[in-house]
Formats: sequence, structure tokens, C-alpha cells
Amino acid sequence: MTHPLLDLAPLTAAHFASIERRVAALLGTEQDVVVMQGEALLPLEGCIRGGAHPGSTALNVVTGPYGQTFGNWLRDCGANVVDLEVPFHTAVSADQVAQALADHPEIDFVSLVHAEAATGNTNPVAEIGEVVRAHGALFMVDAVASVAAEPLLVDAWGVDLCVIGAQKAMGGPAGVSAVSVSERAWERIAANPDAPRSSYLSLLDWKHRWIDGGRTTLPHAPAQLEMLALEACVERIEAEGAEVVMARHASAAAATRAGSLALGGGLAPYVHEARDAAPVATTLRAPAGVDARELVAAALAVDPSLPLIAGGGALAKEMIRVNHYGVDATCGVVQSCLAALGAALAGHGGTVDLEAARRTAGESWA
Ligand SMILES: *Cc1c(COP(=O)(O)O)cnc(C)c1O
Repeated sequence: MTHPLLDLAPLTAAHFASIERRVAALLGTEQDVVVMQGEALLPLEGCIRGGAHPGSTALNVVTGPYGQTFGNWLRDCGANVVDLEVPFHTAVSADQVAQALADHPEIDFVSLVHAEAATGNTNPVAEIGEVVRAHGALFMVDAVASVAAEPLLVDAWGVDLCVIGAQKAMGGPAGVSAVSVSERAWERIAANPDAPRSSYLSLLDWKHRWIDGGRTTLPHAPAQLEMLALEACVERIEAEGAEVVMARHASAAAATRAGSLALGGGLAPYVHEARDAAPVATTLRAPAGVDARELVAAALAVDPSLPLIAGGGALAKEMIRVNHYGVDATCGVVQSCLAALGAALAGHGGTVDLEAARRTAGESWA
């Protein structure tokens, strides 16, 4: 008896290459796309170690926890790091980036997170791309939480290194990721003596052993389950229509925002302005004196399948994340999350209007 997950034919090089092309189309890029067998932190670290070196200066935009991680890697590479930190309840502006570039003309690398699922904000990559391009720095974008949730136009926006993962709005598994690499980025990485070579973190290995050879021989055995899952999630997005998938995420964010305000009980959107709020996930501020972790635990006791989680690290006490991405980007899931949070707030002595939250979310969605 064959097993659907175990008895798979080997994945051919042609099949692997076709998955790369479909991911490239999703990203709106003609650049090389390298699909990587690992969670998105693998290509993210590969990009930074490939682009940064002692003597280089990086502008690291910090709008959430991933930006902090990138800063640590950049410093570890010996780069001078200019951290541009903005409060987690807002987004960075192109003007702020332009000012930082003007203050530090030596900047040759810019790292930015497009959308942050962990803080619920999204940054204006198109406008930032313009100022980075004018300055001439290499532009790396972490688009793990934005891909399939909101427009992502890698070539039109001048992104040199764009990293995605399948596990958020794409509705796929963690464990497979991809990065697009511009011609400029290949040149810069090749010229960096400290860029990883003969290493799992090496983008250059993929270029030399896979791309330059015409994508005929894979450097190592492809992780079949992850590759087939990535292909299936791209196929599902193509079938539904990328625009439709993105519209579902935008509606989920708007409905969660409006519904949480209608619910009352002291719950409030964590990101102040709706235009700065990410379509992938909505963060909410717990009412004063209420621990977000207790609220989430009480809400999950109502329905453990809901995509609710307390914020990470220092945000754990005050932030609730509604992860309305992938198959959870539906009106029903949003309404159920609000109902469960409402019940939890009522249990903490809060005054909530469950019906207003349900109705407002539904009207916002429509
Ligand atoms: C989710 C996410 C990643 C991937 O990290 P995991 O926590 O392992 O899912 C990377 N960058 C951003 C901005 C993300 O939101």
C-alpha cells in the first residue's frame, strides 16, 4: 500500500524550476528566485550575511521584533549599523528613511520588514524603495507577512532581495521559503569576501551550482513534501486569484479593527492609524489592568481553534494578536474571534456589546 506523504517520486530539477517560476510570478519579478528548504529565517540570514561585511554600513529599520534580529546579524557581520527605530504602533515613512540616508551617506545596505505579523504594522515599501534606489544602497525586504496579504511588486518597487515564507497569508507550511535576487545583489554578494560560500546559508552556492548551470542539476535532494506544499499553495492562490486572496486579508483586518472598537470593554487597535495596519494580522491592546495572556487563554477556552495569541516578548502582557491569515481570513473567523474575546472580557468584569461587534464586523466586511 502506498502512502500519500511517504511514497513520493523524486522531485525533478524541471519540477523544482517550475515552482521557482510560479513563485517569481507571484512576486511580480523577472529576477532569479531561489526556493530554499527551510523556514524564512534561512534566506533572511543568508541575505544579510551575503550583503553585509566589515566596512559596510547598513540602515536597519526596526518596526518590530524581526528588525531587531536583523540588526543583530548585521552587527555580527561586522557592519556599522544605523538603527532607525519607530514605535511599534506606527509605520516608518519614506521621509524618515530619506533623512537617515542623508545623515549617513555611507549606507550601502537597507533592511526593512514589509509587514510585521508580530506587531501588526505595514510599511510603505514602494515609496521607501524609491529613496533607497536614488541613494544606491542594496534594498532587502522581509515580505514573509505581506506576500499574498497585500500588494508586493518586487521589480516595480526596486527590491534587490525579497524574502517570503509560505506559512502566513499563502496558507502553506512553515519550512519552505524563497528569495528573489537582483543582478545588483548578485554582484554585491559575489564581491563580498565574507559572503557565505559552501554553506547552507549561501545564496552564491545556489547561483553557481543551480542557476548558472541552467537549472538542470539540483545541488542536493529537494525536500519533496515542502516543495509540493509550496506548489499547492501557489496553485490555490492562482485558482482563487491573488487579488481575491489579498482582498480577503484586507477585509479581515478592517473588520477586526472596526469590530474590536464596537465590542468595547477597553479593547483598542494597537496600531493607531488604519493605513499603517497590516492586512495579515491585527494587533489589539488589552484594556488597562488586564493581562493579554489571560484574556487570550480565556478566549481560547471558548474555542481553541481560533487564531488568537498574545504578543511576544515584552508585548506579551499588553498585546493580543488576531492572526486572520490564510484560510482564517474570513468574516466568520473574525466574528468568532471577537465573540470569544468579548466573552473573555466579560469574564474579567468588562462591559462589552457582542452583537454590535458581530454586526460591525459583518458590515465592514461587506
Ligand atoms: C512570520 C514572520 C517570519 C517568519 O518567522 P516565524 O516566526 O518562524 O513564522 C519572518 N518575518 C516576518 C516579518 C514574519 O512576520
